[in-house]
Amino acid sequence: MPARIARPPPPTCLEGQASQMISVARGQPRGIINEVRCLDVRVLSKGGWLVPGVLSTWSWSGTPKVSMLISATTDHVKVDSIPGDKSRAVQQVIDLDRTACHLGGHRPWFICPSFWCRRRTAKLYLGDSFRCRRCLRLAYPSTRENATYRALRRVQKVRARLGGSRSLAEPFPPKPRWMRWETYFRLQEKAELAAAVYYRGLANYFV
Ligand SMILES: [Zn+2]
Repeated sequence: MPARIARPPPPTCLEGQASQMISVARGQPRGIINEVRCLDVRVLSKGGWLVPGVLSTWSWSGTPKVSMLISATTDHVKVDSIPGDKSRAVQQVIDLDRTACHLGGHRPWFICPSFWCRRRTAKLYLGDSFRCRRCLRLAYPSTRENATYRALRRVQKVRARLGGSRSLAEPFPPKPRWMRWETYFRLQEKAELAAAVYYRGLANYFV
């Protein structure tokens, strides 16, 4: 179990936060961990972003692309939205902790900013603000989910190669003029097999 760090003074709106936290803790996973934007303290540390006084921009690819300003002191990391970016108004001060390594030196940790958590963690994830995996109820992808998503990606890749829509709701793309029929039939079969795996996996979620 990750260590818990002493809590700061309680926030003023105790009841609201408490009831919100309880409902979060009891529910089903809200998302898959590798689909959520993540801030890794080890990456920040290795890249020199935790050096006090260094101000840097941190960007996550994907849609929409998200960028934030990151600055650090010895005790905390400050995360700020880029001025003018109205899509994400995040401003957080994340406490840092350090533990001694076996081989000397120290390794940094984030302290989850949630008042009710305060767990030591290497990674924080971006929901409305940064929280740890448990607070955001993120699940690790299961093997079955992986296989299902991989199958979907195989179908989408074939569709894209044929110049068609990646959506399975659209008709399968016709053969491009430059493509040999042999190749087209092979790709069509590949897409059909992968689509069958995908739909079977999808059906399993609801049983
Ligand atoms: Zn947490």
